[in-house]
Amino acid sequence: MTAGIADGLIGAIGNTPLIKLKRASAATGCTILGKAEFMNPGGSVKDRAGLAIITDAEERGLLAPGGTIVEGTAGNTGIGITLVANARGYRSVIVMPETQSQEKIDFLRMIGADLRLVPAAPFRDPGNYVHVSRRLAEELGAVYANQFDNLANRAGHAATTGAEIWEQTGGRIDAFTCACGTGGTLAGVSDALKARNPGIRIVLADPEGSGLYGWVKSNDLSIAGSSVTEGIGQSRVPGNLDNAAIDDALRIPDAEALEQVFDLLQHEGLSIGGSAGINVAAAIRVARDLGPGHTIVTILCDGGSRYQSKLFNPTFLKSKGLPTPPWLGN
Ligand code: PMP
Repeated sequence: MTAGIADGLIGAIGNTPLIKLKRASAATGCTILGKAEFMNPGGSVKDRAGLAIITDAEERGLLAPGGTIVEGTAGNTGIGITLVANARGYRSVIVMPETQSQEKIDFLRMIGADLRLVPAAPFRDPGNYVHVSRRLAEELGAVYANQFDNLANRAGHAATTGAEIWEQTGGRIDAFTCACGTGGTLAGVSDALKARNPGIRIVLADPEGSGLYGWVKSNDLSIAGSSVTEGIGQSRVPGNLDNAAIDDALRIPDAEALEQVFDLLQHEGLSIGGSAGINVAAAIRVARDLGPGHTIVTILCDGGSRYQSKLFNPTFLKSKGLPTPPWLGN
């Protein structure tokens, strides 16, 4: 392909810009950089996982044109898998908790996913979307994408997200922080960066209501509180996060994350979702901890328009006891 021309959808996934977050950088005296994953064709970091998982299944001879791939997802992985499946000639069946944003539900239907909504249930419940999707894949004789335990997810992030961050910063990076759903992003980036410089600090950012903060700090997965963020937080350690080199963890309340979501939109014109807000808030805490002159990279996982009906809706925000930004009224 000629330089500058993407070879179809697949060629347009990844190679996202690293954006300097100006106010966060100025406030801390550090350079805080956000990897603009909302610029992927499907609008999130999970396009990378979808591509990595489907490519791996093809290489293993599990998927051939006309085949079907099934996944359980908070939405973004379903979008990534469905777009790549469309481009490569497969069908996708997507199982998703009905509590996820209407925007993700509508988008999945729009792009042709065979969408199965299920009631939200904890992981220990057989009705949890992950277990429903695994059983459905078996019943259909289809490929099960299995993003939580399929290590193609983590390897894809090491080969692309992590390698890109190293190249884009020229190796001048002191710390990386992000939240975990499957852990593919954090573990894959950790693998790539630590292989090049073991001194780079890797920090897990966790929402309230997730057990991962306690797991990193004291090997205790117990959970307290809740979060309005989607796609992140865990009550267990997924296969993709197992054995990841993680130096520290931070627990970020929703109000602190949303402050960054609204601030970046109002003052820098950057529209990000809730998990990206957690990541930026964590990057600021890491910057304060390290002191001026350091470079911290984080992930802007997806865009705000995916959560218009929630994070930018005064009625929803009020119902959760969260502040509404002034331009949205009351
Ligand atoms: N943010 C959003 C919005 C997501 O959908 C996800 C994936 N569920 C993540 C963050 C976490 O990414 P990972 O699965 O690689 O940990």
